[in-house]
Amino acid sequence: MTEHEDHSHDRLKQHFAQRVIHQARQVLEVWQRLQRNEWNDSGMHELRDAALLLQRYAERFEQDEHSQLAQSIGNCLQAVAENRGRLNSELISELNLLMQRLSRTGLRHGDRFEQTVLPPLRKPVYLALQHLERAERLAQQLEFFGMTAQPLDTANAFRAAMLERHPAAILMEVDFSGPGCGLQLAEAVQQGLEEKIPLLFFSHDDTDTPTRLAAVRAGGQEFFTGTLDASSLLERIEVLTHVAQYEPYKVLIVDDSRAQATHTERVLNSAGIVTRMLIEPIQAMAELAEFQPDLIILDMYMPDCNGTELAKVIRHNDRYVSVPIIYLSAEDDLDKQLDAMSEGGDDFLTKPIKPRHLIATVRNRAARARNLKARMVRDSLTGLYNHTHTLQLLDDAHYRAQRDGQPLSFAMLDIDFFKKVNDNYGHPMGDRVIKSLALFLKQRLRKSDHIGRYGGEEFAVVLPNTNAEAAYQVLDEIRRRFAEIHYPAQPQDLSCTFSGGIAQLHGDMDSKTLSKHADEALYAAKHGGRNRVELFRSE
Ligand code: GH3
Ligand code: MG
Ligand code: MG
Repeated sequence: MTEHEDHSHDRLKQHFAQRVIHQARQVLEVWQRLQRNEWNDSGMHELRDAALLLQRYAERFEQDEHSQLAQSIGNCLQAVAENRGRLNSELISELNLLMQRLSRTGLRHGDRFEQTVLPPLRKPVYLALQHLERAERLAQQLEFFGMTAQPLDTANAFRAAMLERHPAAILMEVDFSGPGCGLQLAEAVQQGLEEKIPLLFFSHDDTDTPTRLAAVRAGGQEFFTGTLDASSLLERIEVLTHVAQYEPYKVLIVDDSRAQATHTERVLNSAGIVTRMLIEPIQAMAELAEFQPDLIILDMYMPDCNGTELAKVIRHNDRYVSVPIIYLSAEDDLDKQLDAMSEGGDDFLTKPIKPRHLIATVRNRAARARNLKARMVRDSLTGLYNHTHTLQLLDDAHYRAQRDGQPLSFAMLDIDFFKKVNDNYGHPMGDRVIKSLALFLKQRLRKSDHIGRYGGEEFAVVLPNTNAEAAYQVLDEIRRRFAEIHYPAQPQDLSCTFSGGIAQLHGDMDSKTLSKHADEALYAAKHGGRNRVELFRSE
């Protein structure tokens, strides 16, 4: 083949591969829709057809990764069909895992898919902010993290852009093109659209309730105030555009009647909720630690130990203080219900309960609990896990690694000469660097890795199923890329580096020792000249 032919062959392949990616998105969309609503036969057929088509395209255009995923999805759906069309927890988890992998092919950088997959077809985000300059700066930041954004400076430019092409999402300042005009403008362009575009509002100043209400009525799904930062914006957009996948909710059902428990389980499974049932309440604590449910459904009356007693026991453990508990019972005596609620329950459902009612209650409660938990365990500057929670995640990962005999690595990172950044460029600039490293890590590490902000300019990463060498490869690549970033600043642009230390779990080492080893490796990296990653070496 000549060089020219080689080139056009590549381009042709690239062109067709985009079809594969488009079809992959179709599959994901059908799946998302099924998750929002309920599982049914027609939905399942639609999903199967979409997956078949994906497999066909992927084979024709030699996209192995996609073709394997499509085939696995097909196998899963076959298993559902053999289970009389019913989803169960295993199948939900497996499908979800496959969908997560599918959503990452071509959407993220830094995964091992990078070489095999093409850049995604990305729609831009429209930025309609009062100050064009601010919008341009934001666009630049978003661009840097792989999201295209188009700043627009007038209402007419915005309308024209909307006619030309629908964006992935709209960020609209409340006062864009005049006081309160942004609200009306956003509402107007959404009118008559079959599928609403994710809409986020922004107001520089804190606003009153009427404005927020108007924003909700105009279809706003998010309201930002104060300083707009690229990382939280990106995170919300990813969720709203379903690039980010939710883990399915996990519910523990404790009921001494197997028939009742099975019934509850079926109803929840049909809504894509993963369940475990427990007939013996006495095992509840072990099951909680292992399964880590988002919510617990408790039967009120059980022979060995009744629901309210069990709720008290659960609430005694700090870790489960905020897991919602829903009582399920034939009890219709209001006083008893109130008693039960005061004993650590969050809701009370009376049997027989309508499936829809049960699903809606579970989804709402679980969603709120997750939201609350996310706020409790996250650092507010970066959105990463805070110190305490990172250690908890390390403990969990440690337990699993020991149990399954899988490798586990732990890494600690620390920005080099960070004091100088603060001294020479000011504290806000320092904060920006911290945030951008956080975002960088989020974008480039796997979803299964846990990233924490350990302290000021220190980060920690838990890498399950990863040995020290593999962890080194990933983090060293991140280190090199991070060092290339230039932050626009006066009198000259700023760039930063970090140092890292990595340790791997061996034998029956406890998690404290593991983190101590990572810390020692970090110290060695600092000592060895900084801007490097070191593996722990004994002595
Ligand atoms: P090295 O790690 O390379 O040894 O040098 P360093 O200058 O980074 O080391 P050190 O840990 O002594 O200093 C860290 C500085 O980070 C001290 C503190 O003022 C600053 N810092 C900590 N938290 C924050 C924060 O949230 N924002 C900003 N802007 N600065 C922070
Ligand atoms: Mg430090
Ligand atoms: Mg430092």
